[in-house]
Amino acid sequence: MLACFPRGHKGLHGNGEYVSLGIATMDEFINEERSTVGLTWAIACFPRGVMDTNIMHDEEDALRHDGRSKAAADSLQILGVYPIGCISKMHNTAGGISLRSASCPDGQKRRVCYYYDSGIANVDYGPRHNMVPRRVDMAHALVRSYGLLDDMMRLRERPATEDEICVVHDHDYVDLLRDLTLGNKPVTCDIKAYGLNKVVNGSIDNPVISGMWDYCQRYSGGSLTAARALAAGEADIAINWSGGMHHACSGEANGFCYVNDITMAVTELLAHFRRVLYLDIDVHHGDGVEAAFANSNRVMTVSFHQCTEGFFPFKNGLVDDVGEGAGMYRTLNVPMKEGMDDEGYHRMFRPIIARVMEVFQPEAIVMQCGADSLSGDKLGRLNLSIRGHACCVAFMRSFNVPLLLLGGGGYTVNHVAACWCYETAVAVGKEIHEDIPPHWYDHYYQDQGYKIHYPVKQGRNKKDNDGEAYITTTTNKVLEHLSKLEAAPSVQFKDPKKAATIHAHDLLYDSPPEEDADPMVRLQRCCDDRDLRCFLVELGKRQQVLDRGKETRSDVVKRHRV
Ligand SMILES: [Zn+2]
Repeated sequence: MLACFPRGHKGLHGNGEYVSLGIATMDEFINEERSTVGLTWAIACFPRGVMDTNIMHDEEDALRHDGRSKAAADSLQILGVYPIGCISKMHNTAGGISLRSASCPDGQKRRVCYYYDSGIANVDYGPRHNMVPRRVDMAHALVRSYGLLDDMMRLRERPATEDEICVVHDHDYVDLLRDLTLGNKPVTCDIKAYGLNKVVNGSIDNPVISGMWDYCQRYSGGSLTAARALAAGEADIAINWSGGMHHACSGEANGFCYVNDITMAVTELLAHFRRVLYLDIDVHHGDGVEAAFANSNRVMTVSFHQCTEGFFPFKNGLVDDVGEGAGMYRTLNVPMKEGMDDEGYHRMFRPIIARVMEVFQPEAIVMQCGADSLSGDKLGRLNLSIRGHACCVAFMRSFNVPLLLLGGGGYTVNHVAACWCYETAVAVGKEIHEDIPPHWYDHYYQDQGYKIHYPVKQGRNKKDNDGEAYITTTTNKVLEHLSKLEAAPSVQFKDPKKAATIHAHDLLYDSPPEEDADPMVRLQRCCDDRDLRCFLVELGKRQQVLDRGKETRSDVVKRHRV
């Protein structure tokens, strides 16, 4: 077994000879300071023309690290940047961990499909509620204005059926959600027992809202459809920013979440893949998903979250919460204190995830990309930049395992939309321009100078988390839990024939759906009472911004340059 490749090392892989460009520490790789918990990485090359195109990626990163110019390396192709162990595994077994993908001959592009349902934009949790579903519409408008829709396949809108929701939720709870919305029959039970209209910390987390059942069907249908596109082999990455509702329990609404689209998607994937990794980078612990799969040896859940006194969901997600029974050590929790920044986050994230990928060997990954872990969130108190957040997505993408990207929390809506747009660009492998193109929602980005990235708060609670001790101790504890995990279980599919029942043409649009450049045009066209109200509210918000600002967009851009 090869431990790593020293510079100049030559060997054989598949039908080609490789030569290594050398080794790098984790911190050199991510261009950060020296770390005590950094892993060593191996970088290797094949002579052009003989390499197995099944196993290559991250060429640019490897080149950047090695200091080679593109021209100097023209005679070589980069095998990739892998944690120790993955390289040796690939050396010894054809195919390794990579996904065979005819559309990615250069090893960098991925086939990405994208779900967007305009019916979610007008869902209203009520005045002063922190959850604003319109942020998904804002993210979509940004994705559109950057031209990223041209780089992705579009999934057809398909709301989940009642039967599909009942796969992971109790029938009486599903009946209640439906009946409360549709008024099919009078509701006589105590709805607070189901988490609805219940006061938590002085406010109602899950109000009974207009169109609640329809909303649940739409966002969960998106995650199911995206999961099916991966299972059918139609895409390497599937995106549904309206999903990611990780707190919902089987019989109870919780933490702004009514139905748990994530457990639905993971359950769907389990019919097609032996092992599924669930990764959660929301600022809150992914408790609903963790509970659903706590006993499973086919699902591993890993949650990175803020864990401080009185922070939702209160006492869950401690570092020693490792699951039970067959799922023992397949539950991992990485609790963090307030103020964790990019550097500290990645010193925990990368070694842990690299080890998880090596030990658990998932065949599919579901990643909840809650954007409330960003700096300046209304609820969260971590301190990630958009680049730091997106770095997690880029890291998961680099493993080339089918990847489902979902939304989640995120309550400073301009930050959330900018983050998910940037991560869409990461998924398709494009670096987008810093300046946000003019579009319908661009006034929301005035305070950040119409830039996709905004500055993080400096030195926030830094001394609390920045100590080597906390990061090192927590990381080592999690790695210790992982060391107790037995090798990846080899299991039978529950229903091996199910994959054949997915028809790609049912999932994807043949040509992109037509949509209005300006969402208000649609509102005006189909103006019922609710839409009209939203329309007027939106007009009011715009007017407020205009009145407040007095500055033009170009004034603001100039000021931010200074
Ligand atoms: Zn959250």
